[in-house]
Amino acid sequence: MVRRTKIVATIGPASGSREMIGRLLDKGVNVFRLNFSHGSADGHRQQAQIIREVCAEKKIYAAILGDLQGPKIRIGDLHKESLTLPDGGEITLTIDDSKEKTDSCVSVGYKALPSSVTVGDTLLLDDGLIQLTVNDIEGDDVHCQIKVGGELKSRKGLNRLGGGLSAPAITEKDLADIELAAELKLDFLAVSFPSCADDLIPVKQKLATLNVTINIISKIERAEAVASDDTLNELIKASDGVMVARGDLGVEIGDAQLIGVQKKIIRQARRANKPVITATQMMESMINAPVPTRAEVFDVANAVLDGTDAVMLSAETATGKYPEKVVAAMADACLGAEQHPDTRTSGYRIDKTIGTINESIALAAIYAANHLENVKASICLTESGATALIMSRLSSSLPIYGISRHQQTCQRMALYRGVVPIFVDLSHNNGDTLYPAALETAAKPASLQQGDRVIITYGDIHGSGGMTNNVKILEYQG
Ligand code: PGA
Ligand code: MN
Repeated sequence: MVRRTKIVATIGPASGSREMIGRLLDKGVNVFRLNFSHGSADGHRQQAQIIREVCAEKKIYAAILGDLQGPKIRIGDLHKESLTLPDGGEITLTIDDSKEKTDSCVSVGYKALPSSVTVGDTLLLDDGLIQLTVNDIEGDDVHCQIKVGGELKSRKGLNRLGGGLSAPAITEKDLADIELAAELKLDFLAVSFPSCADDLIPVKQKLATLNVTINIISKIERAEAVASDDTLNELIKASDGVMVARGDLGVEIGDAQLIGVQKKIIRQARRANKPVITATQMMESMINAPVPTRAEVFDVANAVLDGTDAVMLSAETATGKYPEKVVAAMADACLGAEQHPDTRTSGYRIDKTIGTINESIALAAIYAANHLENVKASICLTESGATALIMSRLSSSLPIYGISRHQQTCQRMALYRGVVPIFVDLSHNNGDTLYPAALETAAKPASLQQGDRVIITYGDIHGSGGMTNNVKILEYQG
């Protein structure tokens, strides 16, 4: 049984070693996330190298996603490992770097904080786990009462309920990290806190001056980005993929709103032929516990039923106690959800005019795969991965083997739901030998038996993406 939903794992101190990267790959990680909010450039260089080396040894094509910090407002470093904030206690957030940090005074780098909040505002720390009420503003200091306490660690996020704390879209640090992402040839670049399509322009300009293409994943995490359907759809269109970044989005719009918004973002992304990642607190309790709660299993499963390409782990794998177990638990939840009939057939675009030839080939292939008897897999011979991506927009229970001679195409396809990348060069084959060669390549991974049917798509013209114009149904002869 091939798992179709992909797993993104954030790498950190708990998971960065060569051994652990190997074990996480074995458990089913498809995309590694380097979080540029933490760690040094050299640390990320080393990490990317380890991931690429272990993938090469194992001949597994996994993607690396670099996640820009963006204008996230965070508390600074604490004077000790962690603080326990008591319910009803008091704490001061200060923008004065020289002030002594204590158990009841933490620093904030966002200089506009005292002027952007008013007495009575609710401030949320660490994705809303800790809630503060602003009591008083005095110069550089914002004095708060702790409404809901908890354990606080360095550099956790700070939001204001209802949104409105804002800093420029792209920071100097982000520009330096884009250079790093280009140097490391990362497959995806996550842009944090865009509020509209125009916020991506500086990122695209920077990538253009560096002369690289890295696929941009817009993190949908601002109230402004989901305020209207037009804004959201334009942002999706301007991106190569999106992330339902529930940590920040949830605290800005509230969890009640988030439920419908998650479904909407996933649906709109799929309609636009873009991949989508659902992120944050998916298996949060497994930071400290060896098994997930049933609610967490259902949360992952519901994202799968909503149609997400991938589910993401953050602190669970970056700093948690059970990185391997959480990946395994997530994989099980995905597989379970994929048994549901709704995930196995598709009515996608059945009543729509189709825009391009490769899109109609992709749709025809998956409709045939879903409705013809005895089909075991589809195979997509692809240069850019574009056709594989469209094929993966249709729900199906069958795997799509994306065969490409380009390593980066294979790495990118690792994110697409249902697509199993295979790195092989079949371009020297002519019409007569191409189909048998493709079938033979997929025979083992797809466990093909004599008489099994396979659907193949490919383009007559080798060497250019988006040119797929053939679909063929073959029978495996063993
Ligand atoms: P973060 O983004 O983990 O970088 O904050 C994801 C989210 O906000 O959900
Ligand atoms: Mn975020």
